[in-house]
Amino acid sequence: MLRQNLSFVIFLVLLLLQFPVTFKSPAMPLDIVIGIDIGGTYTKYGFVDRAGNSYLEGSVDTASHPDIDSYLENLFSTIDSASGKSDKTFKIKGIGIGAPNGNYYLGTIEYAPNLNWKGVIHLADLVKKYHDVPVALTNDANAAALGEMMYGGARSMKDFIVITLGTGLGSGIVINGNVVYGHDGFAGELGHIVAMDNGRQCGCGKKGCLETYASATGIKRTVFELLSERIESSSLRDIPFSEMTSKNIAEAAKKGDKIALKAFEITGKILGKNLANAVAFSSPEAIFLFGGLAQAGDLIIKPTKEYMEKNLLKIFQNKVKLLPSGLHDKNAAVLGAGGLIWNELLI
Ligand SMILES: [Zn+2]
Repeated sequence: MLRQNLSFVIFLVLLLLQFPVTFKSPAMPLDIVIGIDIGGTYTKYGFVDRAGNSYLEGSVDTASHPDIDSYLENLFSTIDSASGKSDKTFKIKGIGIGAPNGNYYLGTIEYAPNLNWKGVIHLADLVKKYHDVPVALTNDANAAALGEMMYGGARSMKDFIVITLGTGLGSGIVINGNVVYGHDGFAGELGHIVAMDNGRQCGCGKKGCLETYASATGIKRTVFELLSERIESSSLRDIPFSEMTSKNIAEAAKKGDKIALKAFEITGKILGKNLANAVAFSSPEAIFLFGGLAQAGDLIIKPTKEYMEKNLLKIFQNKVKLLPSGLHDKNAAVLGAGGLIWNELLI
């Protein structure tokens, strides 16, 4: 009987050796959070692990969806199909979202001027219909600040500000290691502080807001003002407003174009002065510049730093670092949106 059993065991072992692949245990699923960055034109997404590695990054169109339901249907069918085709298996621990006018406390997008969906959108509740996991939402600049704190240049800092210089100007303010949300979830709207009395018309309905001067769109408006006031030749004269980018202006400035250089100086002057006011409010260790216009590097950092220092109270002078984002080559808003869950729901 014993001999019979022994031969059976030997037979089984030989069988196992014959077909090792069949008995291989399946790979452990990777714990990830879906990070989603909703912009007016595109929505970017990625699967973000706790260490800040991102997988399956992609994007879908935002602007072509007049209603939120068709948008979410498209977004999650794209994400689920990408995940299905991957050779890795993922366990979704949560979904973090950065969105314009995103309310952290309520999980809503409220009256976002650059999105098609008007009024109050209960986004977190709608997203849970696709994946029943924790969902958190905040504005895109707060998400970028979280990304900077968890995975970028602010890893050792507790007090800093991230300024995003894209179509508009966004700000994420971190005090004592916490993103400031304010009593209603909307804190950190430095783009809409009044930089100029009765100044340029802003998309928010007010006049003279900081973002009408200090943003990719703001510097374009400055270039066009300069082009109409001055007669110097400039390569920027050949580019129509709708096609001009902050990159064009930076490239012209690097070649010594006087209009472009002046536009950077004016932008830095207005931004620097207003950042000095922000320093008086929260005394940050550093201010990080992020986004399209920030990629101009020293062209924007130098004048901004100069005018910030000129306007700082003595106790703050030469103490506050003005730095480019440590996440320029990565997708800070997607990482930060993912970090929203890693940082605040799972710890
Ligand atoms: Zn405004």
